[in-house]
Amino acid sequence: MNLHETILSGLNESQREAVTSTEGHMLVVAGPGTGKTLTIASRIAYLVNNGVSPGRILAVTFTNRAAREMRERLEILLGCNIKGILIVTFHVLGLRLLMDTGTDDFVICTRDDQIEILKKLVKDSGIRPRQAAERISRIKSFIEEADENIDVIFKSYQSVLMKNSALDFDDLILKPVEMLGRNDMASMYRERFRHIMVDEYQDINPAQFKLIKLIAGDKGSICAVGDSDQAVYAFRGADLRNFLNFEEDFKDAKRVILCENYRSNGMIVSASNELIKNNRDRIAKNIRAVRGKGRKVTVISSPDEKTEGEVIVSEIEKRIGGTSHYQLMHSDHAGLDSDCAYSFSDFAVIFRTNAQAKAIEEVFISSGIPYQIVGGKNSIQSKEVENTLAYLHDIISPADIRHNDRDASAEAALLSPADFFDPRAEAVSLMTMHMAKGLEFRVVFIAGVEEGLVPYTINKDNTDIGEERRLFYVGMTRAKDELFLIHARKRFLYGQRLVRSPSLFLKEIPEELIEKRIIPDKVKKQKKDEQIGLF
Ligand code: ATP
Ligand code: MG
Repeated sequence: MNLHETILSGLNESQREAVTSTEGHMLVVAGPGTGKTLTIASRIAYLVNNGVSPGRILAVTFTNRAAREMRERLEILLGCNIKGILIVTFHVLGLRLLMDTGTDDFVICTRDDQIEILKKLVKDSGIRPRQAAERISRIKSFIEEADENIDVIFKSYQSVLMKNSALDFDDLILKPVEMLGRNDMASMYRERFRHIMVDEYQDINPAQFKLIKLIAGDKGSICAVGDSDQAVYAFRGADLRNFLNFEEDFKDAKRVILCENYRSNGMIVSASNELIKNNRDRIAKNIRAVRGKGRKVTVISSPDEKTEGEVIVSEIEKRIGGTSHYQLMHSDHAGLDSDCAYSFSDFAVIFRTNAQAKAIEEVFISSGIPYQIVGGKNSIQSKEVENTLAYLHDIISPADIRHNDRDASAEAALLSPADFFDPRAEAVSLMTMHMAKGLEFRVVFIAGVEEGLVPYTINKDNTDIGEERRLFYVGMTRAKDELFLIHARKRFLYGQRLVRSPSLFLKEIPEELIEKRIIPDKVKKQKKDEQIGLF
């Protein structure tokens, strides 16, 4: 098989169309597990194999981890021809553009630095430092305009940054946008990047949209890949309208829809399809499972959060604890891999808020099952992440990057907690629904599928139910073979023991796709024994 055949051989018809239509703009509308990320990687390989110079290709991914995975995949296909292809996150792209113009005499200011600076500036404005940071970020990303209240703080903040030759994360997009809008820089980049691909396009914010539009100009062809049903960053200023309006923004764009889901079994695909149907603001598509029907989705009612953790651990132990047992259990289930052996990295526990992590972590600690927390503020692991980030931040400025190995030194300052996820680690992954985006696992447990958490309405004035449904959809569609949706009848949350009811989203999944399991309340055995002992 020659390289051309190798690149195209594993792809279905729509994926091939997306890979081989390289002239003009294109919107790839696709559901979870339909091969969006694979399609981008194959498209790059196809371009290079057809003589496009690697330096003319730009791919923008959502995380550094996704960029790394894409590079690894391409390295296998193209070998050293991969050199010169720019596969980066938006922030790293901004950094590169600034450095290309000789602007390298600055340090990067993290969110924690911002808060420290703002603590001194908010004084008696009535605005909290975190709130000010949020608003400044929104102003710099063209999401909102400054009003009188924030304007004074904003200006003082900018002068502190200037004095320290510092740029914050939002500046890494804003400065290049200003630069490209101002002078003949834009034409240089338009000559350079002729093929621009953006993964997870539904989650870009207005500043990122401007940057892409400026780079493309009227010469570059943009291939935007995304899913309106997985837009989950509205709170950070992502604007789903960019995705829905793509064909107006980029004239004569071709549209390709990927409908075949290779990831999940039929029950999981049907259950998630039925859920997401209830949303408006979407490009409807009929996602079909390529794999067999598989097991029904298991919905478990648990007495409390401790039992919730114990159920998860016991289900993992059942699958890990011996091949013979496993084979007995699954011999009657269609759609599972013939290679039955599970490893801990096949399991993920997903929840809506980090506040739920502690209870689950405690059960994992006492069971001895290895686990990794992806992101999160309160765990031991995430402290390590924070420390590493702080360390990288201290030692790296763009000038260092220029003088040393530019590629490695992964961009390190711009790593986010999600980038520390190691898919090969022999550990169960615990993470929020946001962190789970783009990932896949054989067995997924979603914990706390209860009103108040899913959708998340606690301490919130105006919950966007559509966005919450999308988040739950993202969580569900991470599962390949088995999906467990667990709700507790009582839960200790935010300092209180609360009576809980199952999420109304569960009612949107048809009964025939679900197997229900109810774990009864624990009998207070000890008390009974004590009473007997008294007589
Ligand atoms: P998400 O929306 O969750 O980011 P995605 O659309 O990016 O999903 P991928 O991660 O690219 O999906 O692919 C999902 C899984 O399906 C991967 O394991 C991938 O290797 C597999 N896959 C995709 N296309 C094919 C194909 N044509 N043949 C076999 N497997 C495929
Ligand atoms: Mg993807």
